[in-house]
Amino acid sequence: MPSPYASRLAKTLTPYVPGEQPAARRLIKLNTNENPYPPAPAVLEAIAAAAGDLRLYPDPGCAALREAIARRHGCGLTGQNVFVGNGSDEVLAFSFLAFFDPGSPIVFPDITYSFYPVFAKLFSIPYRTVPLNPDFTLDVHGMSSPSGGVVFANPNAPTAIELPLPQVRRIVAAHPGKVVLLDEAYIEFGNESAVRLIKEYPNLLVVKTFSKSHALAGLRVGYALGDEGLIKTLNDVKDSFNSYPVDRLAQAGAAAALCEEAYYKKTIEAIRKTRDQSAAALKAMGFMMPDSNANFLFMQHERVHAIELMRRLRERGIVVRRFTLERIENRLRVTVGTEEQMGALISELKKILG
Ligand SMILES: *Cc1c(COP(=O)(O)O)cnc(C)c1O
Repeated sequence: MPSPYASRLAKTLTPYVPGEQPAARRLIKLNTNENPYPPAPAVLEAIAAAAGDLRLYPDPGCAALREAIARRHGCGLTGQNVFVGNGSDEVLAFSFLAFFDPGSPIVFPDITYSFYPVFAKLFSIPYRTVPLNPDFTLDVHGMSSPSGGVVFANPNAPTAIELPLPQVRRIVAAHPGKVVLLDEAYIEFGNESAVRLIKEYPNLLVVKTFSKSHALAGLRVGYALGDEGLIKTLNDVKDSFNSYPVDRLAQAGAAAALCEEAYYKKTIEAIRKTRDQSAAALKAMGFMMPDSNANFLFMQHERVHAIELMRRLRERGIVVRRFTLERIENRLRVTVGTEEQMGALISELKKILG
């Protein structure tokens, strides 16, 4: 029940429900797509060094980190093409506020990251959902019809399916004058980022995060890449909320992570390998799933319902995620853990399935 003091807006909110963060450390946690490997050691050293200056406010413009991000992506981008926020969730929220209007319905897929409808409602932006195709791929034609703006994740969540770049381009090109917000939270586990399209399309904003591929979910750093004008507008929105959202430790840790590409290449490769091996083993046990280009599997068993599987895995100390949307209520979204964790998942599932 909202407080009787709640504003009219606050009374109508339906907040996003994050995956559980269980207190019990012994659980095998495969429910929120965190990276099973630790961040690179140099990241922790950089954070410890930055702690010496906690007395001081952080750089409100995140200049050093923005430069480092631009350098890492190349494609002719500079710090002026980078906006940094407190996790990509915040970057997405600022983007909804910065680029979408109450008078003009935006579109996103019916099955996608469940924060999008939450932001749309918070900022009174009307939206229309475009159903995914029966095989859960994106309906490119449907996403290309006129609208007030477009939002989609690539690879999509929770389906783990990546839309090939030529089709991403088609959607971006179909909306000149409207912003296409492309959430690439999982692209490092997939094939081809759309960052290279930014110089060609001033309406494309690509949002990325250090949470998944760079094992820094607890640090809260995300960013957007796009035309300088888009970035300037995002900074105007940010500076109207809080000029210092990204703290000193987060800026230092994220910048250090960008210098450790060899380490991250190895851990990402390990996750991809474990993902593909686990998928093959699970398919042999009667699970169906689309090919994953992310760090999770979106699976359904031919015989046993997802609710039952989820409950029985939990009893055995393994936590996975399920969504209640009708089209996908019989599916589990399982984060790819270490080889050992996935081995435990598979052996418990074998027992459950008899
Ligand atoms: C995890 C996730 C995010 C949020 O990432 P943070 O940077 O941790 O806020 C955004 N979009 C999608 C699709 C995600 O799965």
